Amino acid sequence: MFSSKAFDSHEGVTFFSDAASGLKGIIAIHSTALGPAAGGCRAWAYESEEAALHDVLRLSRGMSYKNAVAGLPMGGGKAVIIREPGKPVTEAQFEAFGRVVDRLHGAYVTAEDVGVSVADMACVARSTPYVSGISSHGDTAGGDPSPKTAYGVYCGILAAAKARLGRSDLEGLRVAVQGLGSVGRHLCENLYKAGARLVVADINPAACENLREHFGAEVVSPEDILFQDVEVLSPCAMGGVFNPQSIPRIRASVIAGGANNQLASPEDGLALHARGILYAPDYVINAGGIICVASEYLRSGSEQEVWKRVAGIEQTLAGIFAESKASGTPPHVIADALALKRMAGGQARH
Ligand code: NAD
Repeated sequence: MFSSKAFDSHEGVTFFSDAASGLKGIIAIHSTALGPAAGGCRAWAYESEEAALHDVLRLSRGMSYKNAVAGLPMGGGKAVIIREPGKPVTEAQFEAFGRVVDRLHGAYVTAEDVGVSVADMACVARSTPYVSGISSHGDTAGGDPSPKTAYGVYCGILAAAKARLGRSDLEGLRVAVQGLGSVGRHLCENLYKAGARLVVADINPAACENLREHFGAEVVSPEDILFQDVEVLSPCAMGGVFNPQSIPRIRASVIAGGANNQLASPEDGLALHARGILYAPDYVINAGGIICVASEYLRSGSEQEVWKRVAGIEQTLAGIFAESKASGTPPHVIADALALKRMAGGQARH
């Protein structure tokens, strides 16, 4: 455990279960150097407990980096609920999860991630105040973070299209979107309004049909979506999509999507760079949601201010791409260095 790459000096890992509701899961706190560890809760039917542990550790570390680069006073953490295949997570399980979060006394602040909705987080909030992504308070921003995540990804695509393709708009640009859930669907709407041509895939056929109907999207199979003849590839489903098997087959020249942990390993970022594919570091481009979640939790920033902060992702990425071009260093290496520098300036608080 302690020497595994994914563990990477986590401050703490909590394995929890609740016999009455049948809840099982893990909370990982990577760093509280910059503030309480903030990151969503994912509900997934993992193929093994090891897979769940690996996922939560990588996600939680990613949150430390994400929050640091976004300039938020929050550390990095994440939770996974190990769902039984074919069964939804029950209200009683979300309430029990809230009790586990509460026992950490604010070291970890939870919110939505894959498989968890705003209504689910409202159940969690019955057991703990250390939860966000539910609703706005008065004139501060809040609620479902996914529209903000999607907008940040859209702004990141603008930056990448400019840097790699010399484009100042997205009119007629072909974009392949993998995953049409909360983030993917909102992103497609933004892209459609900007005149982009969409190629999409999801393991849920109804989600694809919806996109075909509303945004004229071309639907392809989940097996083929990464290898389309498009300018931009936008992964918005699960992690690990870029690996030694997939990278040689990619035809897009820009990768800019909302999914967490898109690179199976940092070496895969080097391989993309060597192929001349511009990769927008996932935790930089998908920070819109946590910017909103942090604003709700800390009660700082109006809705308008938060949208503006999210739009700033375009500028942040433009800076990273410019530095990459000037130095020849891959963008994910530049982003990691920036995150580590900011974290080094803080101190663990819990
Ligand atoms: P979601 O559960 O709403 O949607 C995920 C979608 O991906 C689902 O429609 C699912 O059917 C689809 N999917 C799963 N495996 C697939 C595959 N192999 N091929 C094609 N489609 C597949 O989740 P979400 O909130 O939209 O999150 C998507 C990604 O964005 C995740 O990696 C998440 O961690 C990341 N993210 C989300 C937010 C947010 O605000 N929700 C913020 C930052 C990062």
